[in-house]
Amino acid sequence: MKLTASQLPSPSVTPSSAQPPIPIGHWHRPLEIVPSRFKHKSLCDWAINPAIGCLHGCEFCYVPSVSANKLAPRLLSHGVTDPDREWGDYLLLRPWKEKVFLTSLRRADRTPQSELSRDGNRAILFSSTTDPFQVVRHQDPAVARQLNDHFRHLIRRSLELIRDYSSLNVRILTRSPLAKREFSLLASLGNRLVFGMSLPTLDSRLARIYEPHAPSPAQRLRTLQAAREAGLSVYVAIAPTYPECDESDLRRTLEAVRDIDPITIFHEPINIRAENVARIRTRAESLGVSLRTDVFETRTDWANYALSSLQCVEQVAEEVGVGDRLHLWPDPALGSLAVVRSQPDPAAYQAWLERCWSRISEWPR
Ligand code: SF4
Repeated sequence: MKLTASQLPSPSVTPSSAQPPIPIGHWHRPLEIVPSRFKHKSLCDWAINPAIGCLHGCEFCYVPSVSANKLAPRLLSHGVTDPDREWGDYLLLRPWKEKVFLTSLRRADRTPQSELSRDGNRAILFSSTTDPFQVVRHQDPAVARQLNDHFRHLIRRSLELIRDYSSLNVRILTRSPLAKREFSLLASLGNRLVFGMSLPTLDSRLARIYEPHAPSPAQRLRTLQAAREAGLSVYVAIAPTYPECDESDLRRTLEAVRDIDPITIFHEPINIRAENVARIRTRAESLGVSLRTDVFETRTDWANYALSSLQCVEQVAEEVGVGDRLHLWPDPALGSLAVVRSQPDPAAYQAWLERCWSRISEWPR
């Protein structure tokens, strides 16, 4: 018998949490600041990615399609045979070489504004292809301790150097309450830093299906509240919301987020990237859960789901009083001729897309 999401057992135990994932270890190339631009998202000009892989293992994750798959030959030498299918099972930390990092920092800091994106806010994103505050799991406790210490050093030292040797801004994006232990360091960057979490839903059972090893939504909400209390400027990414996130689910999330008083609320639905839909389907089958994967069946089905989700969030955000801070991320594919022509008022639709895509996200002054 198939279970619906709400009939799943309690989220305290995840199916694979008892088995430490492999391979876990070190990557060969040291940590650097690299150019990174998210088209139409106004997130950053650069990114810092302390690891290859991410143990949160979100089923919808876009990273295999944008980076991990390209590293397949090297990942193979670490025992990863399919970077997409095995997403969530590997984590390879970058070495720390201070001279290499400082060289990349100087290069970024000296980049003329004319060469930067208009909406990047001169910000470095921690992180774009992994979570900067995750627990490294390993079957050997001594190795686990060493890796976790090293991970923490990568984050702390790079933040200190950015703070002390540049004028660049920092955008933190995480799903982990582990960030709390660094709040005083984050606060030392003042208005140069914004802290954000991804919070697609407050429904912990639903989150456990789509984000099997990420901390619960309740933990994330408490972390956001703690960040505000620590004096940080906070934003929230209600992203990506799942097809099961109906109006009442979205309203609940937006109301909770409103109470944190974020400077920006980003939103997008799940977009189709590489094998992410196959991962979602496999996950649903393994749990015996019915999910609304029909919305990914065809490009038209997906566009209908994506647009109804974006429009629903836009409407509810107005109703709960956060419409001014809402920053929608319609996927570029929603600007295709076929989608535009299928709208009741194509010109108004295109103008709406342009407004979303040209928006510059808020930064504290
Ligand atoms: S936390 Fe981010 S990088 Fe990690 S698996 Fe989830 S979506 Fe991907």
